[in-house]
Amino acid sequence: MHTLPKILHHGAKNGVTGSCHQLIIDDKNSLLIDCGLFQGAETSAEGQASSDQLSIEFDISTVKALIVTHVHIDHVGRIPYLLAAGFTGPIICSEPSAKLLPIVLEDAFKLGVSRDQHLVEQYIKLIASRIIALPYNRWLPMLKTPQVSIRLQRAGHILGSAYVELDVQEPTSDTKQRVIFSGDLGAPYAPILSAPKPAYRADLVILESTYGDRQHHSRRDRRQRLQSVIEHALRDQGTVLIPAFSIGRTQELLYELEDIIHRNQCQTCLTSSAQMLNEQSTHAHSSTWQDIPIILDSPLASRFTQVYSELQSFWDKEAQQRVNKGRNPLAFKQLITVDDHRDHQRMVQHLADTKRPAIVIAGGGMCSGGRIVNYLEAMLDESRHNVLFVGYQAQGTLGNLIQKYGPRGGYVDINHKRIDIRAEISTLAGYSAHADQASLLRFITGMRKWPKQVRLIHGEAQAKSALQDKIRHAFAQCQHPGEVIIPS
Ligand SMILES: [Zn+2]
Repeated sequence: MHTLPKILHHGAKNGVTGSCHQLIIDDKNSLLIDCGLFQGAETSAEGQASSDQLSIEFDISTVKALIVTHVHIDHVGRIPYLLAAGFTGPIICSEPSAKLLPIVLEDAFKLGVSRDQHLVEQYIKLIASRIIALPYNRWLPMLKTPQVSIRLQRAGHILGSAYVELDVQEPTSDTKQRVIFSGDLGAPYAPILSAPKPAYRADLVILESTYGDRQHHSRRDRRQRLQSVIEHALRDQGTVLIPAFSIGRTQELLYELEDIIHRNQCQTCLTSSAQMLNEQSTHAHSSTWQDIPIILDSPLASRFTQVYSELQSFWDKEAQQRVNKGRNPLAFKQLITVDDHRDHQRMVQHLADTKRPAIVIAGGGMCSGGRIVNYLEAMLDESRHNVLFVGYQAQGTLGNLIQKYGPRGGYVDINHKRIDIRAEISTLAGYSAHADQASLLRFITGMRKWPKQVRLIHGEAQAKSALQDKIRHAFAQCQHPGEVIIPS
């Protein structure tokens, strides 16, 4: 009887943040997969992480290495606390993640610990000395006895994201079990990155389930909806506020906006009869798109966008073709980046006072902090503006509250002030950078040899149970004896 390795979940078990899983190999050896921060209502009532949620409360004496699936803060944010707790092992991640991780952790250090330049540099040096960049699709031996090796595969979620394959020798025999940690999986047809391919086989899969109960719109649909939401908002001479995470979503949005501008540019050159008939509206839209400033107000997002630009060899075919045609998908003419905090404050004031339409992309993605909060405070109570959510809003975050109470004419508290929500609130679900139910199911059923066990993590209860039903159904139809469990 072969036993599957034991796994302890130190986060992202009952929710979607704080990802941290410990793979127990034997009583002396274990590996940690991700070490993320809790966010939103998964922290405390005030949305602030309490000290016991930051600290590493589990025994790390057997942890030989940390494997990072991708650099979102809910997967890497507790690394500083792991180091403080005495972890001395390597941090293994993909090559692009090795470039992005020090930037993420530098930012977290400046926000949470100190802005002292000397300290920051020392800290980043320490982090850099621990990182091992592992190319995709290459096995790395990790332990000799028992034998353990790991391999990273593209997950298509954000640049550098990977799912992890581990071959683990059973303590009492030569048999190896293959364990897969999905990390966060990307959606098919997402911009810039290619979709993840299912693994060949696995015995045990630890699978994310963020959108386990939802289906995304098609890419074309989504781009058209993005365009029409923005055009609608701009007719009111308002600003479109898009809260977005610095890594991933922001670059996807820039990429899609550049494409909309490009398509509308081509449209003005064409003189088809259909356009002649429709001349007025076409010209109105085209000129809107030719003049609209797109403001990226996040120094961190700008740095990540820069790294994305440098790592074009990791882009998908479509994105590389655009570059070959002389387009600049992440650094186009109308893009304005705001770095300095004073410039940021001036920009908020300018957009709140004037009737100049604009699109603003600012962090944070769930509005729990970051520069987007200042825009919301200044503009949420005016109907000509529009807040466009393109990402998942965890329970209890400001973004979640705006989504919930906005359409009912409600209000929210921002910086201890009551702000009535008069701005229009829209949501575009497809830009989630997460696989939907069909893609999650395919990640399992697309394997040549199906797993004995799937453990569903990183999702709200209803998403997990909907996905559990789907996978169980697929297993039953093919009389596959695998089990699908939700760790409690
Ligand atoms: Zn993620």
